[in-house]
Amino acid sequence: MSTEHEVGRAAAHRVVILGAGYAGMAAAIQLAARVKRRQDVRVTLVNAQERFTERLRLHMTATGQRLAEMSIPELLEGTGAQFVRGWVTALDADAKTVRLDDDRVLHYDTLVYGLGSVADTAAVPGVEDYAYTLNSVQDAELLADRLARLGSGTVVVGGSGLTGVESAAEIAERHPELNVVLLGRQEPGATMIGKVRAYLRSALERMGVEVRSGIEVVKVLPDSVELAGGEIMAADVVVWTSGTRVSPLAAAAGLSVEERGRIVTDPALRSVSHPDVYAVGDAAAIRQSYGVMHGTCQGGMPTGVHAAVAIVRALKGRKARPFRFGYYHTPVSLGRHDAVVQFTHPDDSPRRMCLTGRRAAWYKEMVSASPWPTFGRMKRMPAAGAFWPRGGRFTRVRDAR
Ligand SMILES: Cc1cc2nc3c(=O)[nH]c(=O)nc-3n(C[C@H](O)[C@H](O)[C@H](O)COP(=O)(O)OP(=O)(O)OC[C@H]3O[C@@H](n4cnc5c(N)ncnc54)[C@H](O)[C@@H]3O)c2cc1C
Repeated sequence: MSTEHEVGRAAAHRVVILGAGYAGMAAAIQLAARVKRRQDVRVTLVNAQERFTERLRLHMTATGQRLAEMSIPELLEGTGAQFVRGWVTALDADAKTVRLDDDRVLHYDTLVYGLGSVADTAAVPGVEDYAYTLNSVQDAELLADRLARLGSGTVVVGGSGLTGVESAAEIAERHPELNVVLLGRQEPGATMIGKVRAYLRSALERMGVEVRSGIEVVKVLPDSVELAGGEIMAADVVVWTSGTRVSPLAAAAGLSVEERGRIVTDPALRSVSHPDVYAVGDAAAIRQSYGVMHGTCQGGMPTGVHAAVAIVRALKGRKARPFRFGYYHTPVSLGRHDAVVQFTHPDDSPRRMCLTGRRAAWYKEMVSASPWPTFGRMKRMPAAGAFWPRGGRFTRVRDAR
């Protein structure tokens, strides 16, 4: 059965936001707070779960650590925004509708697309069938359960990017009875300065994590992984963190996407093919003068805020402003008591400044804990969310305006 989504007032401008991750949540709170007194704008946030997923902490969930319950509908209370729980199954960019798994159809005038990304489980055979991921709370809980029951054996973490490093360290710290092997093409912390790379390496060694770099996993099997060159490595559990992929919904709807399926945006974060669709967070391919942004929470939240502000400007008939963002740090946890923080230039290249050890662990915890209180502050004072590093000369491009 298909039902029409109630919009309350026929004349209201309907903004539907897909995905309540870091970016979608920032967009929803920011927009709802800014249009609270307007009767002619209706904001609806759609997400698979009512509980906010702290993706930055999923490696903690994967090792059995309980996280705080954060209710999205409760946070939206008093803003006038509506929360719809559901799984988006289709988008019709011409009819301007979104279909949910229970066949509800939501109509929009403006859409904010923030469905995020997940680890790419399709690129290597066997990953879908035999590997665990940190793609959702449920996936992380499945892994936690498996690790808790394992007793002894080898856990292979595939992918030596930051999620792989954080996962390997967390598992090694929580499960000292297990052998943890971190496999990847690159050395952990490959983009960081030598001092930080060396610290990472010795911290992982101290925790008992075996690091093997320059490795290509070509297949995951029920009890092992096969490496390029034919070596078979025994694995009781494989955790896959390598690569990212996005939902196919945008491409299927005919929106312009790049080779990885992310929505190509104009400087104001609107889809270049469908300007009534804004793309935010990991699901968007956002070009800055230094290149296309890669998915992070630090960049994702500003995209959500910018999209909300741009929508309000458009509703007032004002011209959109270009989005500008410069990276400032790469914090990486190494269990609960150690970490590294590499401070960066706006183009994400490393500066000489860094933190290691307990001070870095404190910093990383502060970063991971900050999004939810930030949403709360934005609800009361929307302008509180509008501060982020614009990247200075790194993003100042005259023709972007
Ligand atoms: C273990 C780990 C640690 C990380 N650490 C850091 C870090 O320290 N710093 C940093 O900047 N970044 C970090 N990241 C990356 C960061 O988490 C992502 O860049 C960020 O979550 C992207 O935000 P987003 O809002 O675009 O997407 P997400 O946070 O992934 O949110 C997307 C939302 O959309 C929902 N959704 C998806 N598809 C559908 C659908 N079809 N229907 C309904 N709902 C749907 C999801 O359930 C989710 O709620 C880390 C990631 C991981 C996995």
